[in-house]
Amino acid sequence: MASNLHRNGAQRGSAKFDRPLKPRPRASSPSPGSGFRRPNSATRNDAVPGRVRVAVRLRPRNAEEEMADADFGDCVELQPELKRLKLRRNNWDSDTFEFDEVLTQSASQKRVYEVVAKPVVESVLDGYNGTVMAYGQTGTGKTFTLGQLGEGDTSSRGIMVRSMEDILADLSPATDSVTVSYLQLYMETLQDLLNPANDNIPIVEDPRTGDVSLPGATLVDIRDQQSFLELLRIGEANRVAANTKMNTESSRSHAMLTVHIKRSVVESEDIVSTSQNGDVSHLIKPSKPLVRKSKLVVVDLAGSERVHKSGSEGLMLEEAKSINLSLSSLGKCINALAENNAHVPFRDSKLTRMLRDSFGGTARTSLIVTIGPSPRHRGETSSTILFGQRAMKVENMLKIKEEFDYKSLSRKLEIQLDKLIAENERQQKSFEDDIEKINLEAQCRIMEAERKFANEFEKEKLKCQMEYMGIVKELEQKLVLNQDRHDCHADNGEGPAQSSADEVAELKMLLETESNRRKAAEEEVARLKWQLEKYTQPEEGGCFEITKLHNLLEDEAHQKKKLEEEIIILRSQLLQSNYEIEQMRRCLEGGSSGSTFSATDSSVTQVRHSQFKDAANGQKSPVATLFEQVGLQKILSLLESDDANVRIHAVKVVANLAAEAGGLTSLLMLLRRYEDETVRRVAAGAIANLAMNEANQELIMAEGGITLLSMAASDAEDPQTLRMVAGAIANLCGNDKILMTLRSQGGIKALLGIVRCGHPDVLSQVARGIANFAKCESRASNQGIKTGRSILIEDGALPWIVQNANNEAAPIRRHIELALCHLAQHEANAKDMISGGALWELVRISTDCSREDIRSLAHKTLSSITAFKSELRRLRIDY
Ligand code: ADP
Ligand code: MG
Repeated sequence: MASNLHRNGAQRGSAKFDRPLKPRPRASSPSPGSGFRRPNSATRNDAVPGRVRVAVRLRPRNAEEEMADADFGDCVELQPELKRLKLRRNNWDSDTFEFDEVLTQSASQKRVYEVVAKPVVESVLDGYNGTVMAYGQTGTGKTFTLGQLGEGDTSSRGIMVRSMEDILADLSPATDSVTVSYLQLYMETLQDLLNPANDNIPIVEDPRTGDVSLPGATLVDIRDQQSFLELLRIGEANRVAANTKMNTESSRSHAMLTVHIKRSVVESEDIVSTSQNGDVSHLIKPSKPLVRKSKLVVVDLAGSERVHKSGSEGLMLEEAKSINLSLSSLGKCINALAENNAHVPFRDSKLTRMLRDSFGGTARTSLIVTIGPSPRHRGETSSTILFGQRAMKVENMLKIKEEFDYKSLSRKLEIQLDKLIAENERQQKSFEDDIEKINLEAQCRIMEAERKFANEFEKEKLKCQMEYMGIVKELEQKLVLNQDRHDCHADNGEGPAQSSADEVAELKMLLETESNRRKAAEEEVARLKWQLEKYTQPEEGGCFEITKLHNLLEDEAHQKKKLEEEIIILRSQLLQSNYEIEQMRRCLEGGSSGSTFSATDSSVTQVRHSQFKDAANGQKSPVATLFEQVGLQKILSLLESDDANVRIHAVKVVANLAAEAGGLTSLLMLLRRYEDETVRRVAAGAIANLAMNEANQELIMAEGGITLLSMAASDAEDPQTLRMVAGAIANLCGNDKILMTLRSQGGIKALLGIVRCGHPDVLSQVARGIANFAKCESRASNQGIKTGRSILIEDGALPWIVQNANNEAAPIRRHIELALCHLAQHEANAKDMISGGALWELVRISTDCSREDIRSLAHKTLSSITAFKSELRRLRIDY
């Protein structure tokens, strides 16, 4: 038996017909213990090749055929196990065709669904578009296969009903939705089977994507199977009604059920279910919510019988053309696709426009071709089989269509944001707590460090004080030792003469030692000279030596000259003395002399003698008598002698006279009249001595002594002069009664002027004066005689006081320390003292001063004067 085998690529894919494209997710909810379901992004975005699958179904002979064809065999022979169909040409020849599935007349509806439609339904549930289409001659069982409701017999339920059952079982009502439209295409007019009034639905194409939509079609939400069955019933009823109205049969129209599925899916690749530390709250990246839209199109085509047959039923040719336009266009499109033609005439009919995605598009498509067994329709059966064979060559590129669900994403992001805000706030709080903790710790450490430092400081201070005190003690011991030695000498009856003799002996010894050393040094020099001569040029050495000797000679000559001068002076003094003695003797022997000069001269000598006499017997001084006899003027005239020695002697005479009445006035007069510094020095010294007496002090003041002393101070250059002047003023400063006069006559200013001379002896006198003044002033303040700031401060003495408060010379320091303590007694001085830096000195005095009384005085002052206390508090000095 001849047999042609038509493969058409069927073998290639037949084994895979009922296999899903990839493992199908079961639900959009997370599977237990496995995170979220996640589609493979590669398959989602990339198209998967998917050929149109074609099954052939043979209808059993119906009653009419049983009768009419009783004597004939079927025109087809099925070999389902080989997925082959043999179509007889005649009794001895047949063509064999291979299909993806060959369903015999006994194939159950369930099996038909499972092999033809179920893979498509599963794809649709995965997000792909799907098409199940029945093609075949009228009466071969298209509607039976697709649209049977199975109300009487459940097993007869068709593909539409079974598809919806599977879809509803798979979807999640909370997140997914199913809507259905049901249309009829008749003579290129789309009618809504769910709303008969809607009888011309336009097809809208997206110009960008080419996607086709039917916005006018009624979409019914399907919640359960019952409502779907009801909808199918209504659709079928409407189809019958429409056909009756149009005087046609349903076999001439195409019915199209579209099931729209919208599912939410979650991109689990963006989700980290648990972080390492178990904290998920802020680590979850918001998932990408996607909406997957897919549709299942079930198409019950019009009967595939040829036009001429339809025409034979009395339709006008144009009408017949129109009736079959869609079907013939579908055939053309499938031919073009099967042959890989560049042009596929989809736009030729509404059916092909609507099925563009099903053939050569992105949908998974299953075609079931239905045939009858009757040899009488062999031609139609053959063309149906050939249609199916061509359709098997159509390759689709399956593609999921999904889009972002922005609303859901926004909602999720909002939740995530709120979580993050809360978390951030928590972290902020904990951060602040940490900072506070660290701050507290730092403060504690600082305090600890400060405490340690203070302790160390205190220890160090104590150590220094101990050392200091040790040194002072040592010095005092030495002093005591010296005094003891001195006293011991005195006790042993060794008078000053003895001590002087000792000293002289000691000095002699020293001199001897020094002479020896000098001798040795001279020898050394001689030796070196000799060496120098040896090593240097003879001429140079000689020259150097001569120069040196010459210099020495000059020095010696100079010394000699000076000595000679001194000898001359001494000689003249001796002569003078002899002369004076002679004069004096004559005077005493011969009474008063007429010669003024000689009388004067002798009086000078007399003064000297009288002093010794006074000291010896305490009787009225003959000097006074002499003074009365000779007259001050005469003595004073000696002060103008050309001879300096005479002048000095004269001053000494006057100084001695000062102890007598009128002497003080004379001394002041000397200061006033004489610019000679020697005269002034002697006079000032004498005044200083006299100024120790209170009566004299008042007299000095009354005679304008301060002014004179000030003048002497400002003119003087010799420290000895200044020491005398300062001493005089210092003594005056100790008198309470003359305090204000002293000041008003510029006594303080004069003292301060004297400090320009840095000699410690001078400064010591100035310091003593200031201390005396401060003491008297303090006393006056305590008695309420004086109020307000210290005059010392008024006259600008404070800076010098502060500057010398710690003078290395002990006498200066002691006086100043005392002065500071007196000044500090009075609140009125405190402000200036603080700003002038005297407070620090007081603090130092209170701890360092070697004199206990001054130390405690300073201490008492610091703890009693409010201004000091508050300043110390302000400086955080815990006094
Ligand atoms: P079509 O829609 O192709 O015109 P139908 O589905 O209306 O054909 O079928 C015509 C008749 O054949 C119906 O009465 C139907 O019940 C019956 N029929 C079709 N296929 C089968 C089948 N596989 N088994 C039993 N009866 C069938
Ligand atoms: Mg039908």
